[in-house]
Amino acid sequence: MARGFFNVPIAVNEPVKGYAPGSPEREELLATYKKMYASNIDIPMHINGKEVRTGNTKNVTPPHDHKHVVGKYHTADKIHIDEAIATALEARQAWSSVSWTERASIFLKAAELLAGPYRAKMNASTMIAQSKNVHQAEIDAACEMIDFFRFNVQYMTDIFKDQPESAPGIWNRVEYRPLEGFVYAITPFNFTSIAANLPAAAALMGNVVVWKPSDHQAYSAQVIVDLFKEAGLPDGVINVVYGDPVMITDTVLNSPDFSGLHFTGSTFVFKELWKKIGENIHTYKTYPRIVGETGGKDFIWAHNSAYPLQVATAITRGAFEFQGQKCSAASRAYIPASIWGEVRKHLENQVAELKMGSPEDPSNFINAVIHEGSFDKITKYIDAAKADNNAEVIIGGGYDKSKGYFIEPTVILAKDASYQTMTTELFGPVITIYVYEDAEWENSLKLVDESTEYALTGAIFSTDRYIVEQASKALENAAGNFYINDKPTGAVVGQQPFGGARASGTNDKAGSAQNLLRWTSVRLIKETFVTPQDYKYPFLG
Ligand code: NAD
Repeated sequence: MARGFFNVPIAVNEPVKGYAPGSPEREELLATYKKMYASNIDIPMHINGKEVRTGNTKNVTPPHDHKHVVGKYHTADKIHIDEAIATALEARQAWSSVSWTERASIFLKAAELLAGPYRAKMNASTMIAQSKNVHQAEIDAACEMIDFFRFNVQYMTDIFKDQPESAPGIWNRVEYRPLEGFVYAITPFNFTSIAANLPAAAALMGNVVVWKPSDHQAYSAQVIVDLFKEAGLPDGVINVVYGDPVMITDTVLNSPDFSGLHFTGSTFVFKELWKKIGENIHTYKTYPRIVGETGGKDFIWAHNSAYPLQVATAITRGAFEFQGQKCSAASRAYIPASIWGEVRKHLENQVAELKMGSPEDPSNFINAVIHEGSFDKITKYIDAAKADNNAEVIIGGGYDKSKGYFIEPTVILAKDASYQTMTTELFGPVITIYVYEDAEWENSLKLVDESTEYALTGAIFSTDRYIVEQASKALENAAGNFYINDKPTGAVVGQQPFGGARASGTNDKAGSAQNLLRWTSVRLIKETFVTPQDYKYPFLG
């Protein structure tokens, strides 16, 4: 029981390490990578703090070397999901009422462990499982995850401080209770930090969780489980299950105690989940909170007052880092005809320098895409563009899945602003460019706004403040994270809370107080000190 109004440590962003040749962090990381690559790991599920091995396993294979098996993970039957729910509800009794300081300490400790002894392991497992280069692993699996833990603790106390006024003779107070029931966290493959944050944000606020990580992130998910355990997270608070997502989800969503969904992944899956929750609404004891951050078709728009080199650099970084597999990755660009020639020249020069291969060689900027399904989908669109009169592949377009799922950074030039790769989320290293006549710049903003169902991230480039203001207004609802003269990726916790609207999600901004609020149910307590004893009001005479 806390006896004092404690201040938590002021959250600061974890500095990004450089991993330059010869640096100690580079040597430690590459040595850890080698060791983990040869580890033959056996990844269990985690229910009530116990390791559960069903023998029903699937292999873990790095996307950049898919014939190499680094281990296996165990998958659930329905009975394991029922057990995970029951165990979470049991753990809730203690976890939901323990002092917030204990919960804060666990996640602050997790942040420090990750900044120190867990850093290389978390980064190496992310490089292996998700094919991220050293820098992409560092900004995600180390820095962003640390930031989520530190800032969320601070945001939790900010929320607690938000209290109502009290008139004379009474005391009003607000209690931020966890949801009554359990939260279901479903996480995507592409960010190890998101995988950790979705169950952790709910748990920090006193909730218990059933967490289903992506199959393609199991290796780094196991390191997250180890981290939480060492940080002191009690058994049963976060239960981890793998397997058939439909079976797991149907079992979870049929539970009367299901009280919240914390989802990040594709739009279609989220809409299906929302539908199932709606169909089951009479089953639940409480209206479930539904938080989902989903797909995007993120844009770069340039005005002819923009510097071509800056636009090209934003495209190279925004579209091709982590093979375009960031929900925020630029995948469509609108460039005015008068600067297109120069933008194209810079883009060709930059992309020609990007090396592709295994993340074990840190000089590779581009690594593999996540799995064969993704490779086949992306390359189908590239092939279609090669064969289509409405489009032209002007950079890249090559691919090879013999060893790993490698796709060259690819630029498609579309004659038609509604060409399929201008409007469909491919989630790969492909950007489509539409060149507009300079005089048509206002119409081109309409195209940006209206061509897709999404509204996640977007960037505009101009040196003219009137244009900046007008474009910002015209694109008011086109992006939840809007960038002026910068690439549309790389949101930092505590600085650019992240999320989009329309078909891109519920925009509850991961890594913010708004998100944490969703995992609470407020109880208002009014206490009257001198309680009335006469029912009559003065107006009754
Ligand atoms: P995905 O939708 O394929 O999978 C996400 C999770 O949902 C995984 O755990 C998966 O196993 C599970 N899942 C899949 N089908 C399911 C079903 N029928 N029922 C229940 N669960 C199911 O997405 P992904 O390929 O892992 O991630 C990429 C997608 O995530 C992209 O669309 C990307 O834009 C989006 N994303 C969005 C954000 C954001 O903040 N908006 C962040 C990261 C990723």
